[in-house]
Amino acid sequence: MQYVLLRDDDTNALTPVECLERLYRPFVERNLPVNLAVIPDVATNALTPDGKAEGFLFAKNGTSSATVPIGENPKLVNYLRENPAYKVVQHGCHHDCFEFDRKSPSEIAARLEHGLKLLTAAGFPRPVTFVAPHDKLSRTSYREVAKRFEVISSGWFELERLPISWWPQYLARKARHAPHWRAGGAVLLSHPGCLLSAQRDYGSMLGEIIRTVNSRKVTVLVTHWWEYFPNGQPNEAFIRVLHQTADYLASEKGIKVISFSDLVESGLQLN
Ligand SMILES: [Zn+2]
Repeated sequence: MQYVLLRDDDTNALTPVECLERLYRPFVERNLPVNLAVIPDVATNALTPDGKAEGFLFAKNGTSSATVPIGENPKLVNYLRENPAYKVVQHGCHHDCFEFDRKSPSEIAARLEHGLKLLTAAGFPRPVTFVAPHDKLSRTSYREVAKRFEVISSGWFELERLPISWWPQYLARKARHAPHWRAGGAVLLSHPGCLLSAQRDYGSMLGEIIRTVNSRKVTVLVTHWWEYFPNGQPNEAFIRVLHQTADYLASEKGIKVISFSDLVESGLQLN
């Protein structure tokens, strides 16, 4: 059996419900879990590493507050709670640029706790998984995140950024070429880049996804909802690929689509 976790990043209080509904109806209908990496208290002026406004803010429409907690969008919160295929995981706190590439343990802890508080106050179960903005965690962040979450999902892991006590596990994993590993009480999952990306060729995207999913036991497929709506308009060709991916994942008997919580609870072998 091959396992697939679909992870969609950057849902926040300013995300239009219609966007998620358009993208994920084929998943929701078949009860295929969609792991939404939700920004608990989005910074309305968040910038990308190259200084541009973050794409997930396209619908902010003159919002004047510096940050907006997820609970301030009851329409979105109710929609996510009414459709149990959506599984909320924590994506940073405000999604400031490289938000968790910092040193202060107290600042890191405060952001993690603030995010957890807002997600649970909105009525979501306490998330077991953490995704750092721009996939960057400092050594202290790894330690603080592992104290509070069971899973860290990231693009890749760099030795110099990891707590030194994790190095033996990291090196053992590297020697085995294993994409996923365990250390510090957490499961660490890497992903093979954003295969579902508006920057890629739509004609070859599904083939690449199929090859990747079949080449490993557990695959985290990462995408970003806002990339399907450039200037707020649906990119039909890209949405079609996402829906073909849903058809493929649902119809293959040897593939199971799971949530991060399923992964932890099942205790299944990672590689
Ligand atoms: Zn993000």
